[in-house]
Amino acid sequence: MIKANDPSLHSWIEIAPNSDFPIQNLPFGVFKTDTRDPRVGVAIGEYILDLCVVGQYNFFELIDLDPNVFHRSHLNDFIAYGKPVWRAVRNRVSDLLRNDNTEISGDSTMIRECLVRQDEAEMLMPVKVPNYTDFYSSIEHATNVGTMFRDQKNALLPNWKHIPIGYHGRASSIVVSGTALHRPKGQTKAPDADAPTFGPTKLLDFELEVAFITGKETKLGESITPDEANDYIFGLVLFNDWSARDMQTWEYVPLGPFLAKSFGSSVSPWVVTLDALEPFKVKGPVQDPAPLPYLIFHGNHNYDINLEVLIQPEGGTENSICRSNYKYMYWNMNQQLAHQSSNGCNLQVGDMYASGTISGSEKDSYGSMLELTWRGANPIKLSDGTERKFINDNDTVIMRGYGEKNGIRIGFGEVNGKILPAV
Ligand code: CA
Repeated sequence: MIKANDPSLHSWIEIAPNSDFPIQNLPFGVFKTDTRDPRVGVAIGEYILDLCVVGQYNFFELIDLDPNVFHRSHLNDFIAYGKPVWRAVRNRVSDLLRNDNTEISGDSTMIRECLVRQDEAEMLMPVKVPNYTDFYSSIEHATNVGTMFRDQKNALLPNWKHIPIGYHGRASSIVVSGTALHRPKGQTKAPDADAPTFGPTKLLDFELEVAFITGKETKLGESITPDEANDYIFGLVLFNDWSARDMQTWEYVPLGPFLAKSFGSSVSPWVVTLDALEPFKVKGPVQDPAPLPYLIFHGNHNYDINLEVLIQPEGGTENSICRSNYKYMYWNMNQQLAHQSSNGCNLQVGDMYASGTISGSEKDSYGSMLELTWRGANPIKLSDGTERKFINDNDTVIMRGYGEKNGIRIGFGEVNGKILPAV
């Protein structure tokens, strides 16, 4: 077992039982406050451990890294050190926060300098994202979309069970939770219209996804196997792949998604390490037909992570509209990364690879409004009496996720984003 995952560990910081951030989690993020410039921290209960200050106290002296790497506005330089260093830092942070350790807890000045309340901090984008890929790896989602837009008998295209389908998305418009986005404008054409028009999307949707972040690069021309992918994946965030369905329908033939997706994608600020998620590994769905040799993997690479989507209208309460689970993925992230590199395309530190919409088999587990309302045919009733076919102006969409085992809850916090009217 990874040392920091030990379920018997307790912290000297008081942590609520339903917290996403017990001592067994220790996710990494980037934050600032009125008095602290952007820097790396670790979430613990309602606090952030300021790794920049912890480094200045030489608490990482036994680890082979420059502690100034935490005085950055992104995690890229830290995660570029590689898995042995990520693991050593997380284990060291775990030691410092244990209830039987007094290195920080024994000194009230040090406590004050090392800990920041999360509600006094502003979370920033955790990584600089050089490249973003969006996959399409949930068989339930692909089947639902294929049924709606093609036909039920041939919902999955012939390539789907052979290739982890994906496309290259836009990295520049990935934003951290809490960033509002304006309703995008674009070209659409109603089925009965003679010509397209340009204007605000009428069918704005979310997509419930999880994205992994790479911490190791490959050289151009080099490929990795699914088993080697373990050393490349640093951790995961929740990912909302906002989508304008009417723009998408008109533009996607023949080259795939473009402006219907690139106006913005939202991510949760805390990167939960693959190490912390180790206890939640489960077997994935049986892959039949067997994948080609370059996609064959060993061990379990699906993760039992409960996911939820909520809509909060302006001034209203949260309405839970979807409950899904990351374990449903047909293609796992190791296969996705091996596939991405299989043609020799180079991987970079900070790359983001989103799973594709994560739908389950139940109607309330569909990960988009498109599926939940079946293209608007079955609107969702909210607690204030209003209905939604898609997302309205001034609605906030919230996604949360956590795994729970042996009384330990490893959570992601949330990704939320508000939709402002088109400008
Ligand atoms: Ca997507």
